[in-house]
Amino acid sequence: MKEPTLGNPQNTIQVLQKYNFNFQKKFGQNFLIDTHVLDKIISAAGITKDDFVLEIGPGIGTMTQYLACAAREVVAVEIDKNLIPILEDTLSGYDNVSIINEDILKVDLVSLAEEKNQGRPIKVVANLPYYITTPIIMGLFEKKVPLESITVMVQKEVADRMQVGPGTKDYGALSLAVQYYAEPYIVANVPPNCFMPRPSVGSAVIRLTRHKEMPVQVKDEQLMFKLIRASFNQRRKTLANGLKNSSELNLSKEVIEQAIEQLGKGASIRGEALTLEEFARLANIISDL
Ligand code: SAM
Repeated sequence: MKEPTLGNPQNTIQVLQKYNFNFQKKFGQNFLIDTHVLDKIISAAGITKDDFVLEIGPGIGTMTQYLACAAREVVAVEIDKNLIPILEDTLSGYDNVSIINEDILKVDLVSLAEEKNQGRPIKVVANLPYYITTPIIMGLFEKKVPLESITVMVQKEVADRMQVGPGTKDYGALSLAVQYYAEPYIVANVPPNCFMPRPSVGSAVIRLTRHKEMPVQVKDEQLMFKLIRASFNQRRKTLANGLKNSSELNLSKEVIEQAIEQLGKGASIRGEALTLEEFARLANIISDL
């Protein structure tokens, strides 16, 4: 298999010029042009020749070349049809890669994992389009795609939000959702000059390792996530008021007050002070009332 040829500014510019490619802002196109960052992502993802890897948004195929060298098989899903002829060119020396020209949010990834990896957990690796980071990551978890890990470049601020616990301003529904499904670990911070064009925000590589056993036991997952959303939609309010005002929940004042009391918290507690374990317990209390 060919050594990667992409990953530096000169070769990237050459490919872009050859195809007269225009960057599309609406697709969050910021291509990686730093080999050290690419090596770091591949090594953080822990890819071996046994692995099937899903890449989201291959761009001109830079990271795809690195993935093809490290993995058994790679499927890359790219929305921009103008990139498809470029990918056919840059990936021509790699026989273990296929490209799907589709919106990642519309691909049936459970079937893909079944077909390509016999339903065993897959690894997802991507330099994500930042405008849809949360729907992509939550979609992977909620649609029950069999996952081993997700190693992705995201906006720095979003990586921080995924990793923090209660008591910080970044703590929110995304932190709780990610930590319910996975163990987050920030691998590296990546400055704007590692991309072409340069994004206006800092970036970070984060690895989310799917829990083998769930960290908390919840009878009704949907109820727990409704409670979490209601708490953070109105983070300045008390937990009781947040839950009372929620349009998603239909709980009486009495049920809410009794549940918070059973949780062992005072009436003035705010949702943002609760841990994942406490949200799970609150959901279980309400389920049993
Ligand atoms: N992987 C390349 C790299 O690192 O150089 C490109 C990364 S760029 C940040 C994001 C890529 O995702 C772009 O190629 C963009 O066209 C693609 N993309 C954007 N929205 C998408 C979607 N909904 N489904 C699939 N790909 C998408």
